[in-house]
Amino acid sequence: MANYDLLIRNGRVLDAESGFDEVTDIGISNGKIERIDQNIDPADASDSIDATNQWVMPGMIDTHVHVANAADLGRIRGLGLQMVAAAGATTVIDLGGSMDALTAGIAARGSGVNVGSLGYLKPGETVPEGRLGSDAILEIVVTALEAGSLGIKLWGGYYPFTPEETANFISTANHLNAYVAYHVGTTESGSRLDGLREVPSLLGSTGRVHIAHINAYCRGSILSVEDEIREALDILLAIRDQVVSEVHLARPNFTLGKCDADGNVLADVVGNCLRLKDYDPTADGIRSALRDGYASTVEETRTGLVLVTGERGVELFDQGNTDVPMSFPVNNAESAFHLTAAKNTDDEFIVDAVGSDAGALPRNVNIEQAMRMVKFGALEPLEMVSKLSLNPAKMIGLDSKGRLTEGFDADVTIVDPILGKASYGIVAGNLIMLAGRVVGSGGTILTTERGVPSVEKSGIPHEVIDITKATMYAGRG
Ligand SMILES: [Zn+2]
Repeated sequence: MANYDLLIRNGRVLDAESGFDEVTDIGISNGKIERIDQNIDPADASDSIDATNQWVMPGMIDTHVHVANAADLGRIRGLGLQMVAAAGATTVIDLGGSMDALTAGIAARGSGVNVGSLGYLKPGETVPEGRLGSDAILEIVVTALEAGSLGIKLWGGYYPFTPEETANFISTANHLNAYVAYHVGTTESGSRLDGLREVPSLLGSTGRVHIAHINAYCRGSILSVEDEIREALDILLAIRDQVVSEVHLARPNFTLGKCDADGNVLADVVGNCLRLKDYDPTADGIRSALRDGYASTVEETRTGLVLVTGERGVELFDQGNTDVPMSFPVNNAESAFHLTAAKNTDDEFIVDAVGSDAGALPRNVNIEQAMRMVKFGALEPLEMVSKLSLNPAKMIGLDSKGRLTEGFDADVTIVDPILGKASYGIVAGNLIMLAGRVVGSGGTILTTERGVPSVEKSGIPHEVIDITKATMYAGRG
């Protein structure tokens, strides 16, 4: 009789909380880590993975993805769910999704990953147009929780509210013990350092929030990049007990190529990216940049979206009458690097986690890029595990994940240190990804007590999270 459902043999096992870093075996049964010990007899296991020369870490948790865009409904793509699993994630949080799109996506293209969602706030869709009073805001947050979301995502950079409304959304979510994430920016500030500077006044002395992609506010649009990084870190330190945050490490940005009837690009971002390399801010400029390999657009394949450049890129750009996603390799490496590595005087990371801001966008590079930082010497292997799994688990209040220790969930990511990529993804003891190929299906929805009735209707398995255990409420201690 087999004692274990799965045995992971001879891997370098990394547990950030205990500092454990040894070559050993892991025995898994009933979805939990049952035993960590050297030389577990393979005859005691129904199945085994040889992890010799590989790194075995608790499953990668990406606290910032987009896998349930409301616009997906009708298309029911769920492609992002495949893409995050391929990159080694075992749990992801959709920062601004629709529960309907999420359940449809899991049913159609689920990859076995656990997914939590934050309700998106878009005037005219989930939020009425015009100014919002306290009653309206309370109803919006309760509606998101009852739909099954873990809380809300404020998209200040795209759909800004007044500072008063923004503060009200945050305090309302706080009172309801809901998760709340904020892409900074109000009607008085932008998706830049000025938006970050405004956060302390929005929170007051008691507000709690997750600040999304810190690096996006350090691109040098107000001060020099170096000074913006320094000031961003100072702000985070000043409100350390009230916020959690993440940084993304992807080089490519994402924007829209749409041009007007005269062939001039509409989006500021696209114009800036083109001018940076001396291309005209026109449709012809985009075509040249595509031909030269500087600009890319995306193409949908069976397993996900991929970046496409060259003549095929031009073809897609013309087929879409310029209204296609565009990507340029412009994200600032210096801000990503410094914000990831920066620590306070207690040797704790100032920015809690690395989150991809990817999902359905082809830049799920958390592991690849964090491994580059390890090779560069900017992160120790155990520190990388903190950034990619332990801290994210704490950020969400997942007290059975983020660790490789007996009794915890058997969510495991195995990383090939030579390739610098995930080689296996395991959720609750089940293999969901093997060498970039997704073999999992379905998924588990992470929800709160209030969301259980609607999630049960979807027929998709769920796990209830107590958000009061999340770092923003429980603290880091
Ligand atoms: Zn995002």
